[in-house]
Amino acid sequence: MKRIAILGSTGSIGTQALDVVMQHSDAFSVSVLTAQSNADLLVEQALQFNPSHVVIGDELKYAFVKKALSGTSIQVLAGADALQEVVCLDNVDIVLTALVGYAGLLPTVKAIKAGKPIALANKETLVVAGSLIMPLAREMGVPILPVDSEHSAIFQCLMGESHNPIEKVILTASGGPFRGKKRADLEQVTRAQALKHPNWSMGAKITIDSASLMNKGLEVIEAAWLFDVKASQIDVVVHPQSIVHSLVQFEDGSIKAQLGLPDMKLPIQFALGYPKRMQADFPRFDFRNFASLTFEQPDLETFRNLGLAFQALDQGGNMPCILNAANEVAVAAFLKDEIGFLEMSDLLADCMAKGTFLLNPSLEDYITTDKLTREMAQLWVKQQNK
Ligand code: NAD
Ligand code: MG
Repeated sequence: MKRIAILGSTGSIGTQALDVVMQHSDAFSVSVLTAQSNADLLVEQALQFNPSHVVIGDELKYAFVKKALSGTSIQVLAGADALQEVVCLDNVDIVLTALVGYAGLLPTVKAIKAGKPIALANKETLVVAGSLIMPLAREMGVPILPVDSEHSAIFQCLMGESHNPIEKVILTASGGPFRGKKRADLEQVTRAQALKHPNWSMGAKITIDSASLMNKGLEVIEAAWLFDVKASQIDVVVHPQSIVHSLVQFEDGSIKAQLGLPDMKLPIQFALGYPKRMQADFPRFDFRNFASLTFEQPDLETFRNLGLAFQALDQGGNMPCILNAANEVAVAAFLKDEIGFLEMSDLLADCMAKGTFLLNPSLEDYITTDKLTREMAQLWVKQQNK
């Protein structure tokens, strides 16, 4: 029995992970569930899965959760710091980081230090501090098992290839709802249009990131850390059908790919079950239903964020952390109609140009960089709304 801590259990990845747990109740159980603000769903999940601990991030909702679970033995904690506590519990065998944004960083550091394997959905953690996370995981002998579908695909392609250097990784991108659009088309797009993803149903932040190709940019940086490759070894190709989840090219020119219908339960289950492939009755991909799988170049002029991510990865140091913090503020502002779709890239570029660059940041430096960049970005948003 693998006992799982799910950070962000009420989100898109979190709820699908609980579906996987339900399908494999003989192999998985839940020790910890956490949510930021959806107290109703957290309570419902806790009553169903009976974890030893739950954490509600929003402290104002603590009393509600505590009361709702008062007839049970479930311990209720509140606040961001509690996440760092629950990942270390003895009854946790693996931590699934299904929470969104920078908030994933410190709980992940704590979990690795406590020797807990990480099923990593929270890509922002590696974007912000991959330079610290990867060496720490190696030092602790802790596996980082990717949940992101592209990285799961590459991870699967690399099985049995540990002695063979990677020439290139090729990340596929759906292109999002605005594929084929030009800058002029995107000036007036609304939040509702950006939230309509063609192939995946996901949380709001990653859906906006997919529309701007920022998600692919974050994934480029995530891939660099996970697979120890340089920016020049990472290609992005737009593949609107989302069937080929990503590819690896080896030194003999041979390319391996992983395919399947787009369903996040597959990579979630693969990470939780690793190294075992567990039976699943997900719908199967059938070539007869797909007359053509197509591939095209990403449009870096329209979708500037992808280029900015490559630039941040190339610069290294705390630049990806600056990019990430600026992007979190930009997406939140776009979702509140405070800035336009294209202005998100302007904000990112501005923060990258003005942020204080550090080549070898410590954890404290990353925390400070995140804080200062957010302040700078919020000021930028305020000035737009004067
Ligand atoms: P979501 O918004 O649906 O869910 C986020 C979860 O995190 C919720 O349970 C929420 O309560 C919690 N949360 C939000 N803010 C928090 C905070 N400040 N502190 C603690 N908890 C907080 O997001 P999602 O789509 O499930 O994405 C989660 C992560 O997985 C992201 O990093 C995303 O990039 C990554 N990911 C998601 C998908 C997908 O299909 N949804 C695919 C690949 C990777
Ligand atoms: Mg992905």
